[in-house]
Amino acid sequence: MDTVLRAITDDGAFRVITIRTTDTVRGVIAAQGAEKDVARVLADLVTGSILVRQSMAPDLRVQLILQPNARIRLVADSHPQGLARGITRGLVQMAEGADMRFGGTSVLQVARTLHNGALQQGVVQVTEEGSVSTALMRYMTLSEQVVSMIAVGCHTDARGRVLEAGGYLVQLLPEVVPGPLMVMTERLKDFEDILPLLAAGKGAPATLLGELLYGMPYTVVGEDEVAFGCTCDETRLAATLASLPKEEIESMIADGHVIDASCDYCSKSYQFAPERLRGLLARS
Ligand SMILES: [Zn+2]
Repeated sequence: MDTVLRAITDDGAFRVITIRTTDTVRGVIAAQGAEKDVARVLADLVTGSILVRQSMAPDLRVQLILQPNARIRLVADSHPQGLARGITRGLVQMAEGADMRFGGTSVLQVARTLHNGALQQGVVQVTEEGSVSTALMRYMTLSEQVVSMIAVGCHTDARGRVLEAGGYLVQLLPEVVPGPLMVMTERLKDFEDILPLLAAGKGAPATLLGELLYGMPYTVVGEDEVAFGCTCDETRLAATLASLPKEEIESMIADGHVIDASCDYCSKSYQFAPERLRGLLARS
């Protein structure tokens, strides 16, 4: 089971969130049939979306949309609802023959729901290395004005199977003076790349917290479960069908077959009888 831990250092200087996303990432990658570079970056995006949600507002939705180039788009969508206290899904949209090449036009878009229902969005550039961690830190600093250190990663075996995925986020609380920040920055240099920790079996949120805050007193203030999951249902899929051109729906009704529609995120399929389609047409 994947979990996330939220802690605060006892000097009141830092908020730290550590997360294990191994099962969640495996679920998303399998549902999308993602491989190699696409799978690795999608994994980081999924972990990042949960970290952002946990740090900004655990009870609200966060979506990360990464566009390495014009031909490929990766989405991570983290929801607070679900069996566990948060479910996350992902989506890969790529044109025929597209690759994961990053360049001058690579961007990461962060969209999050606010408590008043409004949508807050920010777009940041992604470096040519395609680092999700770096892009998220940039977003936090520029759009949210919160100094944050973030690392996400996915450790795989030689065949690309996910062995361990996770990450951390360290945030400077507002009233902090420069001293503790320098100490923390210095300390986190050892953990900029989280992969060695994951590879060494130190990916459990409690272990990660102990490593990051070694020798610093802290208190765990929250724990949530994290899981792969989708929010699709029949009504949503019907709404997607209803948005098709009227003639197209009419021709599907004329064919008289039951229409199979499946969710792009989780591949669950839904069946719509011609009568149901007629109902959609009446309402559109
Ligand atoms: Zn679905």
